Amino acid sequence: MWIRVLGAAAGGGFPQWNCGCPQCRGVREGTLRAQPRTQECVAISSDGDGWFLLNASPEIRAQIESFPPLHPRAPRDTPIRGVLLTNGDLDHWLGLLSLRESQPLTVWATETVRAGIVEHNAAYRTLARFDGQCVWRRLRPGRSDQLMPGLTVEAIAVPGKPPLHLARLLAVGDEHTVGFVLRANGKSLAYFSSVASLTAPIRDALDAVDVAFFDGTFWSSDELIRLGVGDKRSEEMAHIPVQESLPSLARARCAQRFFIHINNTNPILRDDSDERASISSAKWQVARDGLEIHL
Ligand SMILES: [Zn+2]
Ligand SMILES: [Zn+2]
Repeated sequence: MWIRVLGAAAGGGFPQWNCGCPQCRGVREGTLRAQPRTQECVAISSDGDGWFLLNASPEIRAQIESFPPLHPRAPRDTPIRGVLLTNGDLDHWLGLLSLRESQPLTVWATETVRAGIVEHNAAYRTLARFDGQCVWRRLRPGRSDQLMPGLTVEAIAVPGKPPLHLARLLAVGDEHTVGFVLRANGKSLAYFSSVASLTAPIRDALDAVDVAFFDGTFWSSDELIRLGVGDKRSEEMAHIPVQESLPSLARARCAQRFFIHINNTNPILRDDSDERASISSAKWQVARDGLEIHL
């Protein structure tokens, strides 16, 4: 399996266009020991030919251009065989709307996530201009599906919540957020970029795979409040803070493990922070744009 991180930041990116927090300022001015990061999106392939995207960020066009294996090989073509969505938050699927240009697409998502995108959304009709332009394939938590010969995905239910823009339109259910276990050639990858709390199935998945990506949105619960850039605690945004998840994650048995979907306020972005040192001693790393893993 070939894994390429196209973007490792949470919604907004790093730096975020309207954020003047110390970290966003520092990375803009070059005074911080940290790399800029675009919004979360990961490409995977089992054969180096066909590719699947895990989430489709608003920065998808530049992310595709940044990685030649995703470039077209004919006048109208894409090696992207499908897009898998972890949930319906805008930073995870707005990129779909940038993949118009009459290109047939296959999107894998739970029924709840599909309905949130297709219903209540006139702009979605740009992906429904002709029959078969956008094919939806249903993910069901607990079931394994074949993406292509030799590559399977198992969706795993994750505690989450409806996306903000649908808060009063959709009921709270158990299919708002999923994680993935992808398997190919005897190797496996666990992908949990949005997790409100650690459950037994998530822990089991982290013990069973070769590589894991996990929600690194916030370091602490009150990070946004203390910096004066928001009024919500991380739990209210359905993200378990790293400070809280780390003791359990340190015991996970997978060999390579990375935090991803990192908010620009999270001090683990700084190469020389104490928080980075604590995740390093727990044998976790911080994903960055351009990171590649070959299994
Ligand atoms: Zn997000
Ligand atoms: Zn910021």
